[in-house]
Amino acid sequence: MQTLFSKLMVIASATLAALLLITNTSQAQTPLRKAIDSDYPYLQALYTHFHENPELSFEEVQTAKRLAAELQSVGFDVTTGIGRTGIVAVMRNGSGPTLMIRTDMDALPVKEQTGKAYASTAIGQNWKGIKNLPVMHACGHDIHMTSLVGVARRMAALKDQWSGTLVLIGQPAEELGLGARAMLDDGLFSRFPKPDFNLAFHDNANMPAGTIGYTSGYALANVDSVDIEVRGVGGHGAYPHTTKDPIVLASYIVTALQTLVAREIDPQKPAVVTVGSFHAGTKHNIISDHAHLQLTVRSYSDGVRKKLLDGIRRIAKHQALAFGIPEDRLPVVEVEQDYTPSTYNNPALVKRVIHAIKEEVGSDNVIETPPVMGGEDFAQYGRTDDKIPGFLFWAGAVNPAVYAAAKKNGQTLPSLHSPFFAPDPERTITTAVDAMSAAALDLLGKTDG
Ligand SMILES: [Zn+2]
Ligand SMILES: [Zn+2]
Repeated sequence: MQTLFSKLMVIASATLAALLLITNTSQAQTPLRKAIDSDYPYLQALYTHFHENPELSFEEVQTAKRLAAELQSVGFDVTTGIGRTGIVAVMRNGSGPTLMIRTDMDALPVKEQTGKAYASTAIGQNWKGIKNLPVMHACGHDIHMTSLVGVARRMAALKDQWSGTLVLIGQPAEELGLGARAMLDDGLFSRFPKPDFNLAFHDNANMPAGTIGYTSGYALANVDSVDIEVRGVGGHGAYPHTTKDPIVLASYIVTALQTLVAREIDPQKPAVVTVGSFHAGTKHNIISDHAHLQLTVRSYSDGVRKKLLDGIRRIAKHQALAFGIPEDRLPVVEVEQDYTPSTYNNPALVKRVIHAIKEEVGSDNVIETPPVMGGEDFAQYGRTDDKIPGFLFWAGAVNPAVYAAAKKNGQTLPSLHSPFFAPDPERTITTAVDAMSAAALDLLGKTDG
């Protein structure tokens, strides 16, 4: 693990030239960017604090407290305890639209191995009460929170340049896919000003820091977790004719599931059915009486999602019938209730916001990126009856020299959720604050007269 790190360091110095090239072509200093850069020492201390003190989903008590205090100190009206540990900060600044910007607050049960001086050594418990878990901000939600505070500080300082209502929220439990739902169920859009637009960003472990990425339309997938309990009739391995072998049946089900995406879904429409876990049996010579499959099922449109889930139920049932499984022993298919719906970036909003971001950070630093099959519960804020347009963009998080070296050598960079994920905080945070503030100033811009 140290070797990977030192290897990266060697590569990093070998490509110093590339780094200089990249930094030289970075954006011109706008007044907004200058202000953000001079505020960075404050934000860096805050980032280090969040990074060293991560908390797991729905356990973000100290995190929320600190975030609330930061937002309150620059003039936001803050309410805590929304959707368990969530916070809502409101700044009313005259007439005009309402913009909501969301950060998530939770960390992951991962033992940090970045070797950074401020690496997390935190131990925490999860919301189910399991204790002594290593905790790390391996998804960069500490970057998101720090950037939200950066935006709050700029928007508070620039109150004469915008008009309307700014709602900043700290959302719990994004990693469980439950936090957005929890805040909505607790009255996010009824107890507080209802947004006209929702914005968020996520750091990106495969883009250089200093860049912004965006996707118009579907950007992230519907994510469903499905369990299939395959039931058979157990017995002695030497007498298979007296049993109904669930391992053979489950194997047929796994194989038949492959035809769903290959033969039933329009090739132009993305879909994934992955069997990530297959458990059955205890011993060489015993035919088990059950097998358990766990699937992740991904799609963009609601129609494709339905087709996949219906197809999984149909295949499981009819493969079992073909095997002669009795009616009362057919497979039990369970789709987890709280799925993460796909993120749809409203094209008109994307167009407007990206124009503003390009003007601020330079169009060379803004890249259109293809959609991905990952999931984000930010999507929930656009799925209420109000159908509020939303946009989640990417902020590159990889040190440019490390990025350039990895690309040159064909190496894979540590992904989000990896214990080695070590973002370049300064470039990532300053660029994210710059882009998000520019977006907010544009959407809440004063109209002349
Ligand atoms: Zn994550
Ligand atoms: Zn995340």
